Amino acid sequence: MSVDVREFDVVVVGHGIAGMSAAVSAMESGAKVAVLERAPFEEYGGNTRYTEAFLRLKNENELFDDFESLLAEVGSANPDPVLVHATTQPYEQWPGIVRSNDVTDADLIQTFASSVVPTIDWLKTFGVNFIPAYLAHVTCREDPPLLAPSGGGIAMIEALHAACEKGDVEIFYETTARRLIQDDSDAVVGVRAVGRRNKRIDVMGRAVVLACGGFEGNREMLQRYMGASAINTRPVARGGNYNKGEGIRMALDIGAAPAGDYGGYHANPVDPRSGQPEAKVLIFPFGVLVNKKGQRFTDEGPGADHRIYDGVCHEIQDQPQGKAFLIMDDRINDIEEYTRSIFTDQPPVEAQSFDEIAEQFDLPVDSLKKTMADYNAACRDGSFEPTHEDGLATDGVVPPKSNWARSVDRPPFLCYPLISAPILTFGGVKVNTKAQVVNTDGEVIPGLYAAGEVIGLYYRQYAAATSVLRGMVFGRIAGQDAAQVQAP
Ligand SMILES: Cc1cc2nc3c(=O)[nH]c(=O)nc-3n(C[C@H](O)[C@H](O)[C@H](O)COP(=O)(O)OP(=O)(O)OC[C@H]3O[C@@H](n4cnc5c(N)ncnc54)[C@H](O)[C@@H]3O)c2cc1C
Repeated sequence: MSVDVREFDVVVVGHGIAGMSAAVSAMESGAKVAVLERAPFEEYGGNTRYTEAFLRLKNENELFDDFESLLAEVGSANPDPVLVHATTQPYEQWPGIVRSNDVTDADLIQTFASSVVPTIDWLKTFGVNFIPAYLAHVTCREDPPLLAPSGGGIAMIEALHAACEKGDVEIFYETTARRLIQDDSDAVVGVRAVGRRNKRIDVMGRAVVLACGGFEGNREMLQRYMGASAINTRPVARGGNYNKGEGIRMALDIGAAPAGDYGGYHANPVDPRSGQPEAKVLIFPFGVLVNKKGQRFTDEGPGADHRIYDGVCHEIQDQPQGKAFLIMDDRINDIEEYTRSIFTDQPPVEAQSFDEIAEQFDLPVDSLKKTMADYNAACRDGSFEPTHEDGLATDGVVPPKSNWARSVDRPPFLCYPLISAPILTFGGVKVNTKAQVVNTDGEVIPGLYAAGEVIGLYYRQYAAATSVLRGMVFGRIAGQDAAQVQAP
């Protein structure tokens, strides 16, 4: 069978923010660029297509003050302090086990932080506008705004896509990268891909940038790394279904050092009845969450920080059938514009009694009634403040509810079913400050770069509003550097 072989300077895998940033910067640096994209033209953009793209900036020129400290805080699990201390030496002097250590290195965080504003400026040259953006969570309403591209992630993708078209970047749609091609010296010199009807194509280049997302769309990897209960999840938006982890796997297969928490994800609680993207219900801190057994299983109000959603989502994933049921009562109407925190297109299930709720969701009625009676008996008088942590906690029920614990006993009851929907997975590969992929011995894999979700940065916890930035910053860096790679 004849194989279609195409020659370029830089091959980029993925048409999200990381891939488009890499393609355009490589093109600007004089390279002949190919982009491989699994999705058809109408659906390019992966996760980026569906995000509002909150960015951790106060404005176009200023990062949030905690940008670096937060990334450092979530940048490791229980690291060996001796290995971490070695990173205070110049990079060239780090032993291999330090360069490959699964910790987000301080120099990578510094490069990330110092590159954000120049990258925002760069995107503005393609016509992207940035505007203040407010989180929808009621509990975060008093927080200062973040920044976002006007029009969301798709606006950035389209702007960069237009630059690709102008600059003769060749984009191969419905073409899935399967494995990396290496030469005799093990340098990466291309990508073996398949198109429609299994048509094979080898796309060769002096460098390859893996920018093809995480593995939120791959059940096998989700269950392998996150346990059997990952069967209960589904990607938060259609774009995640295209991200099946091949970029990460291809790199690991040739020795890349893993980085990031393979058991972790950032997720939203979504209404499983809805087929629309991001059908999230962010109002649960003001109600009670029960599982299929009619029992509470988590603190519904551990804090006002929107980062608590990941922990609650992991708990929902682990419940029977991965389902939770949010029960609120008429008191929800005290909260001004609470519906702004509800994104599902499905109406709440309304009920006049716990019997009716049990019937509607097929829950054991006696168990549900006991759960609600125990919870209501544990609620205390106090000041209820929906827009920040109010310390209105339960007393004497397990699990406790730490804030916003008002009785739920005044019909009509409003209820939503919820499941956990991963937004992005944390596991990826390790890169240096040039976005070059490092192997398990700490050596650069010649010709191989990674950007966006393929880079592992987060452990246990996400650093909110940094993933799109990770894509644009390291995509741009990777493209610039990859364009300089010389033929062997
Ligand atoms: C609903 C939603 C809301 C979000 N909100 C925010 C937010 O407010 N702020 C924030 O920072 N982040 C947010 N995120 C996360 C963020 O959007 C993503 O992490 C980021 O955009 C990922 O960019 P990427 O380029 O790495 O991957 P993607 O944008 O997912 O692009 C990957 C591309 O690679 C393609 N691909 C995958 N595998 C292959 C293959 N083998 N061969 C060829 N092509 C392949 C895919 O089709 C896709 O086009 C959100 C995500 C979603 C879904």
